[in-house]
Amino acid sequence: QKAQMAGAREERILVVVRLRPLSDKEIIANEVADWECINDNTILYRNTLREGSTFPSAYTFDRVFRGECLTKQVYEEGAKKVALSVVSGINSTIFAYGQTSSGKTYTMTGITEYTVADIFDYINRHKERAFVLKFSAIEIYNEAIRDLLSSENTQLKLRDDPERGIIVEKVTEEVLRDWNHLKELLSICEAQRKIGETSLNERSSRSHQIIRLTIESSAREFLGKENSTTLAASVNFVDLAGSERASQSLSTGARLKEGCHINRSLLTLSTVIRKLSKGRQGHINYRDSKLTRILQPCLGGNARTAIICTLSPARSHVEQTRNTLLFACCAK
Ligand code: ADP
Ligand code: MG
Repeated sequence: QKAQMAGAREERILVVVRLRPLSDKEIIANEVADWECINDNTILYRNTLREGSTFPSAYTFDRVFRGECLTKQVYEEGAKKVALSVVSGINSTIFAYGQTSSGKTYTMTGITEYTVADIFDYINRHKERAFVLKFSAIEIYNEAIRDLLSSENTQLKLRDDPERGIIVEKVTEEVLRDWNHLKELLSICEAQRKIGETSLNERSSRSHQIIRLTIESSAREFLGKENSTTLAASVNFVDLAGSERASQSLSTGARLKEGCHINRSLLTLSTVIRKLSKGRQGHINYRDSKLTRILQPCLGGNARTAIICTLSPARSHVEQTRNTLLFACCAK
């Protein structure tokens, strides 16, 4: 088992890209799609107006998903292996990274649902063990942590526990009963996340959402006995703030200040991801933001990571699309 763990430590971060289709609204507005997935690994920028420019045009990843791909396929080929490592006791994190309206929430919601369905299926096929599946959801907004399953608007605190590591104090944890229970909890989160939004996408474009599933299991034959051991691990589904919040720090003006907290978690995450992708050597600055502190046990060490970068194909979004692809290149 030791050798297996050492092997896991070497595993790279899985980086995939998902291009969404043009929306009806964009089509009506005569928006043009300039990006195309030419095979399973390459996405190409083709803007005939820019032909002959030095603009880099082809980007290669573990997997790219074209606009017609269903979330089920993105899950199967871009997230499943990482997410389901949780049933073997390995922590993991799946990120959705991309500008506002590129499809992060759409993608993450589907992936969370498919993962839960597969975990329930796994539990049903392994009657020799007793499982408890727990669900919690938080939002990080301006470096403040809020419980998305609680209507009380209190801020949650982080604490370093000598045994359990970093914990979010007093966070609501629901024991997931079945599929309908999951749907119920997801809709509570969605409603909670919308509170305080004054315009479409406003708050959710600045906040990070972390849905955490924790699975605990023990062999039935040892239940209640002294030599009973519990296997526990978590998988995190992270719907990040709009990536335009990271590049804002490069622009000047009034919007710089309001975006600066978001930048902290997003920029720290970029640095952490870049270091992890380079072989996890040297000091990694997890403590610089709430997001990376919370995720630390599920990022470094044996943990598995997948990043799904979501892209808009629209010509008017080309700057942000390129920024997202540059981040994706750094992470792989
Ligand atoms: P974000 O969370 O990145 O701001 P959303 O997930 O809210 O973006 O997506 C923006 C809109 O585009 C939503 O109406 C969503 O349903 C739609 N959408 C996103 N991705 C896809 C896709 N791959 N196929 C079809 N519709 C999509
Ligand atoms: Mg969203």
